[in-house]
Amino acid sequence: MQIPSFSAFRLPLNLGILFLLMGHGAAELGAQDRPNIVFFFSDDLTTQAISAYRYGLDLPPTPNIDRLANEGMLFENSFCGNSICTPSRCTVMTGLHSHKNGIVNLSGALDPERPTWPKALQQGGYSTAIFGKWHMKTKPTGFDEWAVLSGQESYYNPDFFFSNGEGRRIEGHSTDVVTDLALDWLRRRDKSMPFALMVQHKAPHRNWKPSLRELALYSDIEFPEPPSLFDDYESRIAAASHKMGIDGHMRMASDLMMFSTEKDMGVINRFTPEQRKAYVAAFDTENAAFLKNPPTGKELVRWKYQRYMKNYLRCVAGVDRNVGRVLAELDKAGLSRNTIVVYSADQGFYLGEHGWFDKRWAYEESLKMPLIIRWPGKVKPGTRCAAMVQNIDYAPTLLEAAGLSTNWDVHGISLLPLLMQGGATPKGWRDTIYYRYMDGGHGVAQHSAIRTNDFKLLYFDRPRNEAEQNSRWELFDLRNDPQELSNLAADRVHAQKLKSLKDRFASTRKFYDDTNENVWQRGPGKRYASETYIRPPRKR
Ligand code: CA
Repeated sequence: MQIPSFSAFRLPLNLGILFLLMGHGAAELGAQDRPNIVFFFSDDLTTQAISAYRYGLDLPPTPNIDRLANEGMLFENSFCGNSICTPSRCTVMTGLHSHKNGIVNLSGALDPERPTWPKALQQGGYSTAIFGKWHMKTKPTGFDEWAVLSGQESYYNPDFFFSNGEGRRIEGHSTDVVTDLALDWLRRRDKSMPFALMVQHKAPHRNWKPSLRELALYSDIEFPEPPSLFDDYESRIAAASHKMGIDGHMRMASDLMMFSTEKDMGVINRFTPEQRKAYVAAFDTENAAFLKNPPTGKELVRWKYQRYMKNYLRCVAGVDRNVGRVLAELDKAGLSRNTIVVYSADQGFYLGEHGWFDKRWAYEESLKMPLIIRWPGKVKPGTRCAAMVQNIDYAPTLLEAAGLSTNWDVHGISLLPLLMQGGATPKGWRDTIYYRYMDGGHGVAQHSAIRTNDFKLLYFDRPRNEAEQNSRWELFDLRNDPQELSNLAADRVHAQKLKSLKDRFASTRKFYDDTNENVWQRGPGKRYASETYIRPPRKR
């Protein structure tokens, strides 16, 4: 296996900086030359929903996110290391996998003292700000200004917590309001410095509630069903015990806006009377038809799938429209040329594949993270990169692009060589990525995985019953079985492959020094001083 020793982590980074400095002329790297950074981050916005990823599905276009791909580089094999909100966000900030960054599950909080890439940018002369979903519990540090949702928060009229100590409910749809706050800061920022602006949307996280602007989209469209919508999980014992099925686990009122009683209306109680009226009107006719003749069995699953897809993709359309608003502002202000724009999301999501919504699994749909980077004059427009990259790489990449470096040990590698060389995979690039999920929610078994370019190996760390104990490994041939329906771990033809990948799994776990099982114990994680936590703001 071609992986460098831990001490060699920094070698490609240092070489990359040297390359950058040579390219610019080190003396010329003044404040005005350093690129600005706009970092778009959505919650649960999966690659299948982005038309630039071209999966061949007949899903609606995302023209503004696609614009970034057309003018920059799209990473086709971009992955998370732990497919769930809080852990993935902490990895993005720190460049470290969960077991070394202090957040292993949803209960974790970001250590305010921990080095992060925005903090390093701020210390390096950048003006920094973040608006929107944060989800790491402690107050953001390393930002000149911030306004974040006080947790998961509501799609409509969300409560924000501000860096000046203020707490305030803002009327409107979360995706629009987050963009309003970001644009306001962009216009009044300190223009003597380069800036880094993080625009982080709650959408399209469950429970999918599109803005009124997008509510009528796709009303007459029937979306194609994924071939594994009615997966029987044959050969995948742990997958069968999930609690994230469209069939059994999607809630008719809160997830799908099926309002059959007055009590059901409670799911839109944060709405203003006008918003409520528009919502009821939007679903009224379809709901009445459903209640008159309720579908059952597979027809009910199909009905739920269609409504889920419509609302999820309406939320995606709202994100895309708001990405467009920020790009238009960059154009108008003459900032596009010297601004790196990153589009990403904290993990992928199931759009009915395996019968699921949600994430968590190391299977492709939730393992993948969208990643698109536009950098005019540096990244060739319309390029696609096939090299395997991971959320551990964001911190070293963005700091190197700013002429800075991670002054702490990171697991990630700067993507600058990929960005500068038209997406070609540099010699010696990683041939394996590492994954570990231990949150345990939605009935998803705690598991680890490695993925190579062609194969994936899953290991169920803590089997919950005898059947899982007897089936702790899953092996998938990604070229011949891209849907990962056929576990080859018991297939004699693949015995040698299984053995070599088990060895690689062990060496990868050792390489990332994930050998202390105590850090993965379930629980609230480390607590920090009480004043460092975001407190929900006072209600109006
Ligand atoms: Ca998420």
